[in-house]
Amino acid sequence: MSRPSKTSSPAPADLGRLPVEMREILRYMRKAFELVWQTSHRLTVSLALLTLIVGALPALIAWIGARIVDAVVMAASQGGAVAPVLMLVAWEGVAVAALALATRGLSLSTTLLRDQLGNRVNVMILEKALTLDLAHFEDSEFYDRMTRARREASQRPLSMVTRSFGLVQNLVSLVSFAVLLFGFSPWAVLLLVLAGLPGFIAEARFSNERYRLSRWRSPERRMQMYLETVIAREDYAKEVKLNGLGRRLLDRYEDIFRRLHAEDRKLAIRRDGWGFALGLLATFALYGGYAWVAVSAVHGLITVGQMTMYLMLFRQGQSAVSSALGAISGLYEDNLYLSTLYEYLDTPVPRKLGTAKAGPKPGDGLILENVGFTYPGATEPALTDITLRLRPGETLAIVGANGSGKTTLIKLLTRLYDPTTGRILLDGLDLQQWDEQTLRARFGVIFQDFARYQMPVGENIGAGDDTHFDDEARWREAAELGRAAPFIENLPKGYHTQLGKWFLDGRELSGGQWQKIALSRSFMRRDADILVLDEPTAAMDAQAEVEVFEHFRELAAGRIAILISHRFSTVRMADQIVVLDNGRLVEQGSHEQLMSGDGVYARLFTLQARAYQ
Ligand code: ADP
Repeated sequence: MSRPSKTSSPAPADLGRLPVEMREILRYMRKAFELVWQTSHRLTVSLALLTLIVGALPALIAWIGARIVDAVVMAASQGGAVAPVLMLVAWEGVAVAALALATRGLSLSTTLLRDQLGNRVNVMILEKALTLDLAHFEDSEFYDRMTRARREASQRPLSMVTRSFGLVQNLVSLVSFAVLLFGFSPWAVLLLVLAGLPGFIAEARFSNERYRLSRWRSPERRMQMYLETVIAREDYAKEVKLNGLGRRLLDRYEDIFRRLHAEDRKLAIRRDGWGFALGLLATFALYGGYAWVAVSAVHGLITVGQMTMYLMLFRQGQSAVSSALGAISGLYEDNLYLSTLYEYLDTPVPRKLGTAKAGPKPGDGLILENVGFTYPGATEPALTDITLRLRPGETLAIVGANGSGKTTLIKLLTRLYDPTTGRILLDGLDLQQWDEQTLRARFGVIFQDFARYQMPVGENIGAGDDTHFDDEARWREAAELGRAAPFIENLPKGYHTQLGKWFLDGRELSGGQWQKIALSRSFMRRDADILVLDEPTAAMDAQAEVEVFEHFRELAAGRIAILISHRFSTVRMADQIVVLDNGRLVEQGSHEQLMSGDGVYARLFTLQARAYQ
């Protein structure tokens, strides 16, 4: 996985003629335009056309305005006809109405496009998430990138496109103004351009700074988001209340805000200070131009009509220059945010290359050969040199202290991670060569921290097998096996009762009931021939646990069953027991074999048995 440093914007591969940032902007602008174009051809075209119209009309209006003044002066001084004046006024009215119409159309197209594009980008972000590995989600730096993309980037492509169009619109206006102004003096055109330049440079600099600030802060923002979750979400509320943690957490939240705000304030003050100073400079320059035009009119070098036109050009020119510059600095900022979006979307996902749908030795079971694993970024291995064999029909229990590597072993077996050393074979074929779908279908797994979907009960069970997600008959069978059926039938809407408190009429279940749901979920996988239960019954009462395991043994007949449990009454039923300690396999054998020695297993078993006497 690539790990760009937190502060740099993405580095370009080679240096062409254009400045790096310009090329970056153009690169993302192209991507943004493609995205917008793909989202809606029609809206993009109408946006482009209306932009041109809105850009060109002001100059026309100013030009007609000048004609009106001159016609009025002429008519007043020489007693000419009124009709041509009225005609011109009517034309200006039409032009203004057309401008209003085009402006409306522009904003309508933008609104519609924003909706569609926002959705499209969000879907792209989520689709990418579906292709990622578990390792990505557990990598904080990557998680940052995804959060930034989700929070900040989804509106950026459209903003980039509307700003580009805005820029074009202002440039069209400026060019048309320049054409008219050129008749007065080419220097006036230059003045118009130069007046805005310092402002632009300052804007671009501050945008860059603001973006960098927001990137640096990503971890702090994430902490704030997390604190919001802990303070405001139902699953934490119990502990937060009873332990009186609320105030302390809120203070932390506010501390972060104060720290961030101090920096924001400094930046905002600097930005506005410079903005004002440079803006003032531009205003002085433009009023210089203004004076120049006025004096020229007094000397009779230009007509009064021309004077009104030039004055209007200067005034509107100034605002067009500043809008254009604003658009450019906005583009710059959009570009920076888009780079986070594409950084995320372009995250390489190591492709699972396997295509095999069967192994050379069907029925050979699972073999682990010297398997070792170190989590990305970790210094110590979580598993070292595990060698193990499991045949169909066998049950394996994994025993070990917390953190000894039990769950990690399951993650490797189910190919959520690939071993760092050694290999795992299923039916004589390395897991890495298996087709991913085929492999997933062969495992039925529930993890300790199984998901509690805020969806109807039935779907919570159906989630275990996507091909039978809506199959009510299968839900019921699975619920029977998982011992969940009796309490589900007592729920107000049976299998259609909404679970969780996020939604209207959602029911909350007890820990043990949730476990029964999870267990039922694993029983949906009827065709899975490797069943894995990672402490599935810890929250169940003893009676339920015994019943579950009786079912489990029936169901496991002919299959491989792997079980992690701290209850030795359950563990002892397994054909094979392995004891993990600090990632190493320290003991292996049946209950009787392990009890006959005086190893870790025998000691722990006796300890627990004594506690129950
Ligand atoms: P067990 O299931 O036996 O309690 P685990 O397999 O969850 O233990 O953890 C084994 C070791 O790996 C522990 O030292 C734990 O800190 C570490 N570990 C677990 N998950 C991760 C992870 N996602 N990233 C880094 N280290 C991890």
